[in-house]
Amino acid sequence: MGRRAYYEGLRALAHEKRNAFEIDTSHFGLREVRAIYGHENIRIDYWPLPKKIKALYMCADGDCSVAIQRILPIEPKLFALVHELKHHYRDREALGRGVIHCGDYNRNELIEKGAEVFAAEFIYPEDEFLEHVRAHGITVWQAVKVVHFKRGCGAKVSYRFLCKRLEWLRMVAPGQFADVKFQKLEYELFGIPFYKRRRAS
Ligand SMILES: [Zn+2]
Repeated sequence: MGRRAYYEGLRALAHEKRNAFEIDTSHFGLREVRAIYGHENIRIDYWPLPKKIKALYMCADGDCSVAIQRILPIEPKLFALVHELKHHYRDREALGRGVIHCGDYNRNELIEKGAEVFAAEFIYPEDEFLEHVRAHGITVWQAVKVVHFKRGCGAKVSYRFLCKRLEWLRMVAPGQFADVKFQKLEYELFGIPFYKRRRAS
C-alpha cells in the first residue's frame, strides 16, 4: 500500500471513530478522550518519561496502557492521547508484546506519521477546518489572522497544529511562521488571562 492510501485509510478511520463516539469538535477535550480510553479499556499512566518521548503505547494479553508526559499543555496532551489511539486501533497486532515509543524522531516513521494524520483528522477534520477558513473569509494568512482563527475555531488545537495544517494544505509557505511567537502575540492582542498573570509577570 502506498503512503497516500495508508493516510487516507487512517483519515477514514478517524471519521468512523468520531461518528461512533459522537464527537463534536468544539466539545472534544481531555474529559472526552478519557471517556474513549475508558470505553476501549486503555489505562493512562503518568510515568516519568525521557524528555524526547511524548508517550508510549503498550498492550500485552489484552492489558493495554498509554504512558504520557504529565507536564504537556492541554492541546498537545489531547493530540498525544488521540495519536496513541491510532496505535491501539491499527498497530496493536503487529506490535505483539512490544512497546511503541512516540516522539520526535524517525523510528517507525510511517506508523508515527500515520498516527499524526489520524489525530489531526480526529480532533479537527480538514473539511470543518476549510469551512471555518471560508467563514472567516481568510485568503491571505498573517500571524495575527492565525491567532484570531485559533480563538474562533472552537477546536482544541495548538498553534503548531494550525501552522502544520496550513503548510500541508499549501495555504502558507513551509516555515512561514517559524519565527512567530504565537502565544506572546496572542497576549499582546488579547491580554494575559487572569490565571496566568502571576506566572507571566
Ligand atoms: Zn506514536
